Amino acid sequence: MTTCNTHFLALRSSYLFSDIARKVADYKQANPDKKVISLGIGDVTRPLAPAVVHALHAAVDEMGSTEHFRGYGPEQGYDFLRQAIMRHDYKARGVALETDEIFISDGAKSDLGNFQELFDGKSLVAVTDPVYPVYVDSNVMSGRAGEFTDRKWSGIVYLPCVKSNNFVPDFPKIRPDIIYLCYPNNPTGAMLSRGALQAWVDYAGREGCVILYDSAYEAFIQDPDVPHSIYEMDGAREVAVEFRSFSKTAGFTGLRCAYTVVPKDLRISNGKGGKTALNALWNRRQCTKYNGCPYIVQRAAHAVYSDEGKAQIAAVIQGYQKNAALLREAMRAMNLAVYGGINAPYIWVNVGEKWDSWGFFDYLLQSAALVCTPGAGFGTSGEGYVRLTAFGSSEDTLEAIQRMRRLA
Ligand code: PLP
Repeated sequence: MTTCNTHFLALRSSYLFSDIARKVADYKQANPDKKVISLGIGDVTRPLAPAVVHALHAAVDEMGSTEHFRGYGPEQGYDFLRQAIMRHDYKARGVALETDEIFISDGAKSDLGNFQELFDGKSLVAVTDPVYPVYVDSNVMSGRAGEFTDRKWSGIVYLPCVKSNNFVPDFPKIRPDIIYLCYPNNPTGAMLSRGALQAWVDYAGREGCVILYDSAYEAFIQDPDVPHSIYEMDGAREVAVEFRSFSKTAGFTGLRCAYTVVPKDLRISNGKGGKTALNALWNRRQCTKYNGCPYIVQRAAHAVYSDEGKAQIAAVIQGYQKNAALLREAMRAMNLAVYGGINAPYIWVNVGEKWDSWGFFDYLLQSAALVCTPGAGFGTSGEGYVRLTAFGSSEDTLEAIQRMRRLA
């Protein structure tokens, strides 16, 4: 009989969002007259910018004409989009990249999940705790994670991100091969200073590690001293891959477009005493297993860089940032310690001595019909915290804040 990839059977189910949904459903049944507001959603709520919609329509028309129709596109993405990314996201910030170091895709989640295929099966992986679960589960699937005991994988190095280190991980005691870093961070909302990011790049250079840098929330950075790209750091081209997405930047969660930067200077062992470039391996992987992001979607992403697109998208982000600022203030008024929410759409709230993560979740639901995400669901270091998101509509956020004030 054919045997499955048994590593898939080792995967843990995440009960976080199903447990939340069940508790909310029970509450609604017992309180049919109450309007429940979710501050837990990780999806955007505002529509696509008009410039993006316009570009989509125009691209659809092209695809319907004999003259402009396009079939299979380049697996790495169209040059018009790679050029725009290179100029607006990198050159404008003093970072020199070549367009063939930029790979367009349908999502940062798929790229982050797939990239681990390029490494040896025995590579040691380090992740932050709390963590975006894709980094862990994709390595479980490929058999790198070991055994699951005490809510942790024996083969994964966990880097706690807690109040005492400002949610910035300390260097691990044992040298990992691959380090996943996500800044601005989901779920803590923390950001790395220039010094802290340079220190991680230096560590990776010294120890011969690769950093997989998830920067899906880059558009939310407000602080002028905070780096937008890991390539603003000296030496990063030799150690880091950067993942970015149009999902939260421009409301593309349903449209799907992202990109991954793999510098040609990033060379790792070929297992035979020599070195090999990850850029060439990723190119080969994508050409073999991926057909490229749709032309019309890439045209839509290109419109994000037009003058109107930039202005429209900035206004949407500002709206979310305003929600974040209001939520921070409301939680503070409840005498809770609040982190994040300045350079990120996530607010990380320490729920204090009285509650644990789920206890506070229940309290907020029962006393104010508000839904948050228990931090414990993102890892053991998330216990004692909840995550709020700024992605709600401004009406719902304002209503939620009124209700929180009544609890203060
Ligand atoms: N990385 C992080 C940290 C995320 O929170 C998300 C989405 O929630 C992603 C990546 C995935 O982004 P995409 O929509 O491009 O797949």
